This record gives sequence, structure tokens and C-alpha cells, in this order.
Amino acid sequence: MANIIDTHSHLADPKFDNDRHDVIRRAQEDGIVAMIAVADTLRSIDDVVDLARQYDVIYPTAGIHCHYAESTLDSDIEQLKNILHRTSDIVAVGETGIDLFYGKDTLVRQTQLFETHVKLSLEFGLPLVIHCRDAEQYILDILSRYPDATGVFHCFSGNDIFCRQVVDIGFYVSFSGIVTFKNAEQIRKAVLSAPVDKILVETDCPYLAPQGYRGNRNEPSYILKTVECIAETLQLPFEDVARKTTENARILFGIGR
Ligand SMILES: [Zn+2]
Ligand SMILES: [Zn+2]
Repeated sequence: MANIIDTHSHLADPKFDNDRHDVIRRAQEDGIVAMIAVADTLRSIDDVVDLARQYDVIYPTAGIHCHYAESTLDSDIEQLKNILHRTSDIVAVGETGIDLFYGKDTLVRQTQLFETHVKLSLEFGLPLVIHCRDAEQYILDILSRYPDATGVFHCFSGNDIFCRQVVDIGFYVSFSGIVTFKNAEQIRKAVLSAPVDKILVETDCPYLAPQGYRGNRNEPSYILKTVECIAETLQLPFEDVARKTTENARILFGIGR
């Protein structure tokens, strides 16, 4: 049986409201031994923390997504800080980052909010879950000012050169179902350029279902397809990729130690 950690799932998303319990049970039956439930708003932090209390295979994060940079108030940041103070089971700060695909007009606010998260991650000794879209250099520039920061670039979709840069500053790269897409040659090249001890896997469910499930709602069980694809790309046995990425996730998020 597989032994895999889904390092990025939005299990609190309303798309799971009707069958969340079944989705989580199916994942466990398929050998998904842990799932990081990622928050993207203040409200969703409460939801993922609640979920983690119901299921011992679920680990919550806390953060406010860059999509909400414009509407995030100072009082929201205070609240985020309070949550981090009083909730010891949170395993990461995020997701956070910069997304210029959605428009450059909010870059200043996104940058401020991201930097706030970086500082929080250092203050609380937690890794960052970074969302990076069309903003590679902006994010690397900010991180270069915080050499002690660590974490993961989630849903990695850059090329092999960016992948090396990410790994060189001590961060992990997490591959999602998009690595399985026919036209994802560039991402598979990035897989080849990453040291195996820096690779994580994720679904980013309910989004980004892998090849074979495209157009459907994604769920943690489908991560098997992603691990299969990475194993093929690296020409390693499936079990080795599963075991290694799980080990990496345990180290980064401090799970099961
Ligand atoms: Zn994201
Ligand atoms: Zn996400």
C-alpha cells in the first residue's frame, strides 16, 4: 500500500461539504497517511483547525492568500497572529505569496502581505507554504532578505532553472496534478532538476485534478497519479518516490515526530 502525504489540500472547501468524510476515508484507504489542510482566509483557518481536531491524519495551516491582499486589514493580521499564538497544532504559515496572473495592480499590497507572513513564519518557527504565479523574481528577492526562512513552493509550475534557485535557498518544491498533463514537459524537466530529498507532492484539491480525472473535482486519492508520473519521470520505483516524498514532508512540517 502507498504511503503518501498530500501536502496541499483545501479540504475545508465547500465543494467537499456533501461528502468530506467519504473523501478523507477514501484517501486513507488508498494509503494517504496524512493531509495538510491549507487555509487561505481567516475563516478557513478555523475550518481546517476544526477538521484537524476531527481527523488525526489532517494537519492545518494558517494564512491569508495573496488573492485577498487588497481587502486584508491590519486587524486581520492581528487575528492571524493570535490564532498562531493559541493554536499549537498548526504546521505551517500560508498559503501566502504573490500572484501576478491576477493583475499587477495589487503587487504592492501582495508584497506587504507576503512579507508579513515570512516574518510570522520566522517568529513561530514554522515553514511557509508559498503560492507563486508569474512572480518568481519578486518572491526570491523578498526571501533573500530572510535567509533563515524555509518552506515549500506549492504547485510548482516553473522551469528547471527556477527549481534550482528554489532548492538552492533551502526550500522544497511541491508538484501537483499538473505535472501529469501532456503539455507539462517543462515541469517534468523541473522534477528532474530537483534533488529527491527536496520534492513533495500535493493535490491542491478541489482544483487541478490530474490527467485521467481532468474536469472532475480533485481529491487526495488522486495523488497516486502524480506520484506515478514523478516516478516515471525519475525512473524510480513508485514506492521509493512515495516513501521519500513522505519523509520529506514529515521533516518540513514536523509531522509524526
Ligand atoms: Zn496556491
Ligand atoms: Zn492552495
